[in-house]
Amino acid sequence: MGEGEEMNKILVLNCGSSSIKYKLFGADFRVLLGGKVERIGEKGTAIAHQKGDRALKREIAVKNHRQGIALMLDMLRDREWGAIRNAGEISAVGHRVVHGGQLAKTALVSGAVLDYLKSFEMLAPLHNPHNIAGIIETKKLMPRVPQVMVFDTEFHQSMPPKAYMYGLPYHFYDKYAIRKYGFHGISHKYVAQRAAEILGRGRPNLITCHLGAGSSITAVKAGKSVDTSMGLTPLEGVMMGTRTGDIDAAAAQYLVKRYGFEYDELFEIMNNKSGLLGISGVSKDVRVIEGKARKGNGRCGLALDMFCYRIAKYIGAYAAALGKVDAIVFTAGIGENSPQVRKRICSYLEIFGVRVDARKNAKAVKKEADISAKGAKVRVLVVPTDEELMIAKEAAGMAEGRK
Ligand code: ADP
Repeated sequence: MGEGEEMNKILVLNCGSSSIKYKLFGADFRVLLGGKVERIGEKGTAIAHQKGDRALKREIAVKNHRQGIALMLDMLRDREWGAIRNAGEISAVGHRVVHGGQLAKTALVSGAVLDYLKSFEMLAPLHNPHNIAGIIETKKLMPRVPQVMVFDTEFHQSMPPKAYMYGLPYHFYDKYAIRKYGFHGISHKYVAQRAAEILGRGRPNLITCHLGAGSSITAVKAGKSVDTSMGLTPLEGVMMGTRTGDIDAAAAQYLVKRYGFEYDELFEIMNNKSGLLGISGVSKDVRVIEGKARKGNGRCGLALDMFCYRIAKYIGAYAAALGKVDAIVFTAGIGENSPQVRKRICSYLEIFGVRVDARKNAKAVKKEADISAKGAKVRVLVVPTDEELMIAKEAAGMAEGRK
């Protein structure tokens, strides 16, 4: 290890309800190690750790986030598996926080910011409370290291009011902060920056498609999000693995009044039992659905049709929002890995000048590629996302700015 490399390491943390994902970056944002503490508080808690091309898995009892973070720190300091001697070598910890409300910037952890986040915890009940618990524990264990919060909503704070307002009475925005916030911002920002580099043009107009377990589409004008498909919560927008996406809100009222459903029960169904899973009745995983659809399973065929059609409609809408589109960018589990989904979506978009090269598309799996046909007006790119790297860069920028 070179002298200059000893300090300035950046630790990226993503604390979920039962897991802590971590990655440590060294000089030039090179990945030094990473891993996951999983099934926290449950039987069979384990740490899966990776350094270089070597991996380790250990079962070890971890009752809560505090113990999980302490275990991870021990691993970071381990002579064989770690990369630091003490926490002083870490110049910043970057924490992923899903819902940042109207915070428009990466923020240093402070009592005021945490209080603000807690005020709307109910909007991201599966993520924010755990993200915040992790931050509090990390701060206790590493009190001298700057703790930086990077929000999934932040990139979308540049949306104009005409994009983020809902057609509710205005005071619902003023009084209750009901508006579109958008999510996956760290990923959309990363792939938009990378696409601009690939295109070699300063500030292209892009439509970025993050298609994973959750999916969202963003219109990016000159590096800024101007519209995005997810809303107040991640439920809005395109159909996803288990989420409905856009639906008439009156359906909920009708099901409650006419069939006696509870609101909470419906919310659970709309978030966790709908989308690809609900329609196919088989799986939320596109790999499984594609396989069954090929063998003639009608509901799997319908699920895929709906998935691609609804995404194509959003892309069409965002072409109108942007006026001119330089490229469409596919990323995340499905976007990076499914040539079939990309092909189907793009087949709806020929009217805009989108044409895909079938061979390039088939070969573009889990790697950066330009899959557009020669001479096509709109380029189509595949860009693997790297949310941890984006968080590390944001955290490093914040920590440097403080010096
Ligand atoms: P997460 O939001 O959990 O990070 P990912 O971005 O990893 O999700 O996406 C997971 C989804 O990617 C899976 O549910 C599956 O539908 C899809 N996926 C992964 N690999 C493939 C593949 N080879 N072909 C098609 N879909 C894939």
